[in-house]
Amino acid sequence: MRCVIVHYHELALKGRNRNFFEQRLVLNIRYVLQDLGVKRIERLRSRIRILLPAQLDDQIVTERLARVFGIANFSLAESVPLDLANPDLRELMRGAAEAVQHRAFDTFRITAKRADKRLSLTSMDVERAVGEHLREATNKKVRLIDPDLTVYIELLSKEAFYSTGKIQGPGGMPVGVSGTVACLISGGIDSPVAAYRMMKRGCDAVFVHFTGRPLVSRASEEKVHELVKLLSAYQRHSRLYVVPFGEIQREIVARAPAPYRVVLYRRLMVRIAGEFANREHCWGLVTGDSLGQVASQTPENLCVIEEASEFPILRPLIGMDKLEITEEATRIGTFPISIEPDQDCCSLFTPAHPSTKTRLDDIRKVERALDIGGLVKQGIDKAENTTFTFPE
Ligand code: ATP
Ligand code: MG
Repeated sequence: MRCVIVHYHELALKGRNRNFFEQRLVLNIRYVLQDLGVKRIERLRSRIRILLPAQLDDQIVTERLARVFGIANFSLAESVPLDLANPDLRELMRGAAEAVQHRAFDTFRITAKRADKRLSLTSMDVERAVGEHLREATNKKVRLIDPDLTVYIELLSKEAFYSTGKIQGPGGMPVGVSGTVACLISGGIDSPVAAYRMMKRGCDAVFVHFTGRPLVSRASEEKVHELVKLLSAYQRHSRLYVVPFGEIQREIVARAPAPYRVVLYRRLMVRIAGEFANREHCWGLVTGDSLGQVASQTPENLCVIEEASEFPILRPLIGMDKLEITEEATRIGTFPISIEPDQDCCSLFTPAHPSTKTRLDDIRKVERALDIGGLVKQGIDKAENTTFTFPE
């Protein structure tokens, strides 16, 4: 029986929440595999077994599972029946020998794990017996340290699995166990990575993008669509709110001193995003801020921006430098989209000397000249939203 065995580690540590976490992980796996005709997914002693339909391609299953947060690793395996009291390893040996037949290797080892201690054989007994059989069948050498090939065997209560490799999962916690957050996504390098990190900690992400439209083209929106589509492979549904921000910015430019523009834009952004966060039952906003990276990210300005927000602002990249963020963006695939040229709304009317140490009192005074409530309402009323579903 062809199957996938999924392992998770962090979840196992979560005490009484464990059941909830495991159920969520099974549900998330079910979502990403359902269009492939996968129906049987079961929890078995700290692992999850997925039965694969006979004709299903390994590659597509691997690609889908590599994006399910909560999976530490998984293997494409075969399952054979096992009798605890009277274990007969012949089928396991035959299967393992067949599985390595077309693989190129000189040295190998067997790594066995016994999940049910009632089994009358120890893991080492199984490793020896199967290893000996493979050595005879293949004429290859056993090498315990750094072998070319490892055959993994897991012995459960009624069945045993064997596989010839483990595939790294993305780790983290299953999306959905940590509530919903609203991610401010700009189309730059940082904000998609920030969203990814929160999703990896189990959050469902809703996205909010501010575009300079009608003063600029739709280029940034197209990029954000691409980015959200890519990130949606990690959660089942994503909603993206796009807010035309150009007119609001023009109003700020007309009524406020130039050095305060960027902080004012940001304070309006978090207020508007907060409205969508309420609508979507979020518990926090997420930004790609990294301390000191640009004028809006000085300690003083971050605090003044935070003050305008009804929600906590989560900044998962706050202590990372650009190089580290870029490496992560490259690894998750958002980097090439992020560096496509566009016109970000924040680059509209950017002052030559933005205030880097904004004081709350000063910004409050400036805001008195603006109809904040009216501008927030304008942003909300003009916003459009799109839903993304994965698999499409
Ligand atoms: P990024 O690479 O994510 O654009 P950045 O280094 O350009 O970040 P800023 O432009 O100061 O930094 O933006 C800081 C954060 O504010 C962004 O990471 C994002 O979360 C949010 N933000 C900025 N501009 C927008 C926008 N147009 N729409 C939505 N969120 C935005
Ligand atoms: Mg930006």
